[in-house]
Amino acid sequence: MKSKLCLLLIVFLLLMTPAVVSFGQPQTKTLVLTHANLIDGVSATALNDVTVIIKDGRIDSVSAGVETVPGATVLDLKGRWLLPGFVDAHAHVSDMRAARAALSSGSTTLRCLGVNHFADAGIRDLSRAGAVDLPDVIAAGYHVRPRMAEEFFMNFPAMSNLMTGLSGAENVRRVVRLMIERGANVIKTMGTERAGLPDTDPRKRIFTDEELAAIVDEARRHNIFVACHAHGDEGAQAAVRAGARSIEHGTYLSDQTLALMKERGTYLVPTIATVIDLIDPGGDYDNPVLAVRGRAMLPRIREVTAKAAKMGVRIVAGTDTSYGPASIRRMPHEIIELVACGMSQMDAIKAATSVSAACLGIDNRVGAVKKALEADLVVIDRNPLADITAIQDVLVVINNGHVVVNRIAW
Ligand SMILES: [Zn+2]
Repeated sequence: MKSKLCLLLIVFLLLMTPAVVSFGQPQTKTLVLTHANLIDGVSATALNDVTVIIKDGRIDSVSAGVETVPGATVLDLKGRWLLPGFVDAHAHVSDMRAARAALSSGSTTLRCLGVNHFADAGIRDLSRAGAVDLPDVIAAGYHVRPRMAEEFFMNFPAMSNLMTGLSGAENVRRVVRLMIERGANVIKTMGTERAGLPDTDPRKRIFTDEELAAIVDEARRHNIFVACHAHGDEGAQAAVRAGARSIEHGTYLSDQTLALMKERGTYLVPTIATVIDLIDPGGDYDNPVLAVRGRAMLPRIREVTAKAAKMGVRIVAGTDTSYGPASIRRMPHEIIELVACGMSQMDAIKAATSVSAACLGIDNRVGAVKKALEADLVVIDRNPLADITAIQDVLVVINNGHVVVNRIAW
């Protein structure tokens, strides 16, 4: 009798356990969002009192007024603001905890620009296999740079002859091919040294014209874009001429390089919030040398971003964070910084959604709230077009049609 009761109890508990994460489960449910004020990521203005119907993880319809679907789950947003999920064009996420932190902040897609052991590709594969608590990832694998990470040689011991340095067109091509063979969706390289290390000069150029051209050409043969880290102008301009898809940071870009980027359609991902992180205590960096450097860099990066936006260079939002336990940067910080550089609230939101998706080459599936795209959405409380700081108040995150965060009491 006792064991029967026990069994009943177990069955009852199993039935009552909520399916928080429906890993690999077919998405057949219909979700209807009503009374939304919609910023769809592509239109010039917001749309009021909209109904969005989501079926099988995709947006099925976007329409004015109230629509009903029998048997569907309905979330009445009561005039709250619905936006596409953020597409963070520059992140460094190396574990599941960080990936979940990114998603819960509203970043439904990450372009991961350099981590060890292909953790980014692993997170991507899990996400695409149906783990709805993980964001989608556009993975780069390792940074392709003169000093490859030591972990790279642990993955590819046959490349140990490059431990003293990666140079030469043939060698960089080999490394690009290795990244692609291991599943990279994008190649990350560097035109200058880093800003986030105390003993480097971020203006200093690395890689020759020939090496940069070889990196871009090898990636292009596989239909893959190259994102190039560059602060100094010479290294950045060389990367633009080589055909990089985006310049990451761009702190010291000259007017001539900006004009060239405008002409060639090269995207600028300034990651201004990173430079603030160099200065502020805590966060991903906490070093007095970097804090002093950051104070010198911040006015420059803001000036370059403002100028680039005015000239019509395509600006994209990225956090350049690891989303680690100490990380304080999130996409809303960068969006607010872009507005402070003179971009309109709407353009800054597009920089974090549709324009970012275009930079990554995935605007046919994310970055906007329109029919047939993936249902990656965020809900915020107040109108970000009236006050951009409202964008920090992410209440709901929907990933591939699944509500993964809900901070509203409905
Ligand atoms: Zn970075």
